[in-house]
Amino acid sequence: ASSKGCQKISGSQIRDLLDAKRFVLFDCDGVIWNGETAVPGAPEVVSLLKQQGKGVFFVTNNCTRPRENYVQKFSRLGFSDVVQEEIFSSAYCSAVYLRDVAKVQGKVFVIGGNGVYKELQDAGVPFVEEEAGVSEESIYDCPLDSEVRAVLVGYDEKFNFLKLAKACCYLRNADCLFLATDPDPWHPLRGGRVTPGSGSLTAALETATDRKATVIGKPSRFMFECIASQFGVDPALALMIGDRLETDILFGANCGLDTMLTLTGVSGMDEAEGYKDSDALEKKDFVPDYVVDTIADFLDAQEE
Ligand code: PLP
Ligand code: CA
Repeated sequence: ASSKGCQKISGSQIRDLLDAKRFVLFDCDGVIWNGETAVPGAPEVVSLLKQQGKGVFFVTNNCTRPRENYVQKFSRLGFSDVVQEEIFSSAYCSAVYLRDVAKVQGKVFVIGGNGVYKELQDAGVPFVEEEAGVSEESIYDCPLDSEVRAVLVGYDEKFNFLKLAKACCYLRNADCLFLATDPDPWHPLRGGRVTPGSGSLTAALETATDRKATVIGKPSRFMFECIASQFGVDPALALMIGDRLETDILFGANCGLDTMLTLTGVSGMDEAEGYKDSDALEKKDFVPDYVVDTIADFLDAQEE
């Protein structure tokens, strides 16, 4: 069952691929940085592509920071020329969706943190802020806001039973929208630890309500639609680079982009080959077109 995909490329093959593209979309964690550490060479790669006149965008499922904090993070990690308009996070895109697509008339009940709150505020979308931990409220008599028309679930380190219970009550109303910033199951932390992702919190609420959330982040197409509508990106001229097959590579496939797996993050070559060799057709969209060890290989490609 071997067909196209998983092509390991280096040197002039990388150069030829990049020469054919006008736009490069980078996933963040696992591609350009790992936590608070830049992938060695990544800042130079981003600068080089920009000097060559390419449109460079950052597409992250991490909803914990507003975009202005990402600008600071880029700068802190040595990326000197990244601007806010190039950053598309699941929190920002969720706010855009609620404002421009759903045009929600009412408040949003948020399971999430400051990244989501700040983006909703900037977009002018009203929301209910939970004061976690301080209340003596119970599931029997906690107040519910009659103006809530949407529930948005994202990564929330202050997730608790009462938030889940309230969200569950709001979603009894079939007219209340159910959105998730991203479906990520877990994330690697330093020292071999992991943290549960937004997807695990959404799954709890899906079970409790027997509903399915609309996903805004990768692999849904919406983040690409945000980029394309603002910058006029032709999918045929764009490359999506990611480290997770089930989100980044599927996202690229869903949007009609060529895809590249880099091996500095979550997914490995064995998993990519596994999907490629699988007989299940629905697994084919997890197979990257290209594979590199690290995006730093782009630098060598220029020197040859
Ligand atoms: N969400 C959270 C809370 C994270 O910590 C991370 C990665 O660290 C992500 C999402 C995934 O981010 P990305 O899409 O940039 O890999
Ligand atoms: Ca990633």
